[in-house]
Amino acid sequence: MKALDATQLYLNRAADHLELPESTRQFLVTAKREVQVQIPIERDDGRLETYLGYRVQHNDARGPMKGGLRYHPEVDLDEVRALAALMTWKTAVVNLPYGGAKGGIAIDPQQLSSRELERITRKFVDEIHDFVGPNNDIPAPDMGTDSQVMAWYMNQYQKYHGFNPACVTGKPVEMYGAPGREEATGRGVGILCLKLLGRLGRKPQQTRVAIQGFGNVGSHTAWFLNKAECRVVAVSDRSGGYFRPGGLDVPSVVRYANSHRGMLAGYQEAEPITNEQLMELDCEVLIPAAIGGVITEQNAHKMKAPIIIEGANNPTYPGADDLLAAEGRTVLPDILANAGGVTVSYFEWAQNRQYYQWTQNRVRQELDHVLTLAFEAVWEIAQQRGTSLRTAAYILGIGRVSRAATLAGRM
Ligand code: NAD
Repeated sequence: MKALDATQLYLNRAADHLELPESTRQFLVTAKREVQVQIPIERDDGRLETYLGYRVQHNDARGPMKGGLRYHPEVDLDEVRALAALMTWKTAVVNLPYGGAKGGIAIDPQQLSSRELERITRKFVDEIHDFVGPNNDIPAPDMGTDSQVMAWYMNQYQKYHGFNPACVTGKPVEMYGAPGREEATGRGVGILCLKLLGRLGRKPQQTRVAIQGFGNVGSHTAWFLNKAECRVVAVSDRSGGYFRPGGLDVPSVVRYANSHRGMLAGYQEAEPITNEQLMELDCEVLIPAAIGGVITEQNAHKMKAPIIIEGANNPTYPGADDLLAAEGRTVLPDILANAGGVTVSYFEWAQNRQYYQWTQNRVRQELDHVLTLAFEAVWEIAQQRGTSLRTAAYILGIGRVSRAATLAGRM
């Protein structure tokens, strides 16, 4: 099943609960605008190479469209479309005044130099600057991109449109970024994990956690949950997994990754395992925080964790989701679980528009507040309607988007 088919299936389940007519569903599944651009750049060795970039603007019924920019070799239009729709539902679930969008370039950033990544980013902005911007579509970091990429993006955008730091979020703090943005997605995953454990009557100290992916989301999730006294027993990245039954020394894993270009390869203080083994570990909480499509009908029944928290976007195939639900496991869906990033991006955008910077403490407090409200609302819907947390989150998000579109007379 393609990524887009999965998000549409979830949409239809929620739409059934909301009794939305076919015409509304059609409006909700189609994107407002989709663009593919050619990105020819000169490599460091003088060769000309051409890449493909995408920006999908899914829906702006609730405000300017917001969504990350992904650099990964498997980026394609189907994936970007699905991720753009997810952003529309996500911003609605956490009640931010935004719609949803997503972008991506099909490259492997590990295989490119910093100068090459800068040229690719600037060329991408050259191609899309006319239909993005602070009131229209605001990118942010995603897989394979970071605050440096956002700094290049802002600088290039400003060459066309003048000083405008709110054109992109996730920037370095020295360049109109928000303190706390970098940690926000992982911190949010951690905050929501603790809320869910509380509702399920589990104590952090008795909770073993395995995390797939040790980039921005995975590493900050590990850091937060370790501080909260959960036992982080395994982490992984594309080089493989690292397991210690008594609990990893998370600060030492972070230090190791920071001094090895973000990679865990060669980390000696844990038993090496594969990513597949990590997914099937005996633990209480499993957090996919890397790529999509890692929980399938083939591995779902082999997984032991009763709680799955979707740090990554689209990690679970619908067939697997149904299997997990039938086995009574709890899945906290991506459109809520990883919404901490877009929430602090919103804080950054709001601060940029006021030329005023909040303290990190304020960012953390407001993040906690926004995520708590969203979690409680989703939990309540799930209890009232007897649905999974995923269907409840879609009911909340899709309900808000369709009401806004109806009130504006858009459909
Ligand atoms: P990142 O590039 O910082 O890190 C990705 C991590 O995944 C790296 O450790 C990488 O080695 C690992 N990885 C890549 N391919 C893998 C594979 N095949 N198997 C196992 N590990 C693999 O990316 P990120 O920003 O941490 O994003 C991770 C996920 O979280 C993505 O699905 C992204 O869409 C989602 N997300 C990110 C943000 C954000 O603010 N960065 C916000 C919301 C959702």
